[in-house]
Amino acid sequence: MSVMDILDKRAAFSFEVFPPKTDVGMEKLCGEGGVLEKLYTLNPDYISCTYGAGGTNVGKNLEVLDKIVKDGKTIGVTHFTCIGNTKEGIKEQLQTYLDHGINHMLALRGDLPFGWTGTGGDLHYATELVKFVRQEFGDKFTIAVAGSPEGHIACRSLEADIAFLKQKQDNGADYIMTQLCWDMDQFRYWLDAIRAAGIWMPVDVGIMPILDQAATINMALSRNGCVMPRALCEIISKNWIFPNPFVKDPFDADVEGKKASFKAAGIEYTINQIDEYRACGINGIHLYALNKYEDVAYIAKEAGLLDLI
Ligand code: FAD
Repeated sequence: MSVMDILDKRAAFSFEVFPPKTDVGMEKLCGEGGVLEKLYTLNPDYISCTYGAGGTNVGKNLEVLDKIVKDGKTIGVTHFTCIGNTKEGIKEQLQTYLDHGINHMLALRGDLPFGWTGTGGDLHYATELVKFVRQEFGDKFTIAVAGSPEGHIACRSLEADIAFLKQKQDNGADYIMTQLCWDMDQFRYWLDAIRAAGIWMPVDVGIMPILDQAATINMALSRNGCVMPRALCEIISKNWIFPNPFVKDPFDADVEGKKASFKAAGIEYTINQIDEYRACGINGIHLYALNKYEDVAYIAKEAGLLDLI
């Protein structure tokens, strides 16, 4: 079964997890009764696992995907970046995924480490990676690619970014997984623009649940330059932890109360955003599970995602 078979028929619903750094984190995610097994109970169409650019966490990434494949409850999708890798190295690693029964990938360039001007490898862009995978492996992989509704942070223009997205399709990519985007007007503009550009690939929308103040600001601004709408900024301001949410020991007297009310408002915001996305005619919702269960399960249920299946 391929994710494309599902996307051909109906909207998909999926999760993203990341490979924990510690053994305790691995046990919590992959152990018996752990987060993965709980997520299966929600019947996601697939679960993707992130990949450290340059293969920094490839062992743990493979371990997580091995568990998903072995359990056989859903499709496992690996993220994969070409940063710092040779063609031979990429071929070898991708063959390993296939040998482990993992035949779905998100083909990425990867974020360039600070100070780098190129990937330091044989391939320079995701467009090239998609072409290479098709050349070397034919149709063995279902290939997702990244799409940035606000334009990738380093793109010279939104038009250029869309042209490269079209190139990913022409090179053999199957579907799009989007960068997070809270600016719905921009998203609708982008969706119209990619369709006008001849990009027919299904669009699976990435949603980061808004659960934590620092994580939300960090995700928006540390790499991606995402616009935060006024309504989201208001939730942050009304629950601001003094002196700021990044400080480990804040002097705010009501830290716990503010965290809780931020989370409640953020969950409501996230559910509303999923409604808006679904009303745009997108092809799937991909929830960043952040290796948690309760909050994402609540969001998925309240947003009606469990009924898609
Ligand atoms: P590309 O598509 O190669 O684009 C990079 C830049 O180059 C863009 O500005 C684009 O406009 C431009 N460009 C593209 N093609 C060409 C071309 N042929 N010629 C000239 N310019 C070109 N990173 C990780 O390290 N690990 C992960 O697991 C991970 N998961 C992600 C999941 C999703 C859903 C998304 C959206 C991103 C993820 N990322 C991850 C981040 C991603 O690696 C970064 O956004 C990275 O900076 C760009 O990757 P890309 O595949 O979009 O690059």
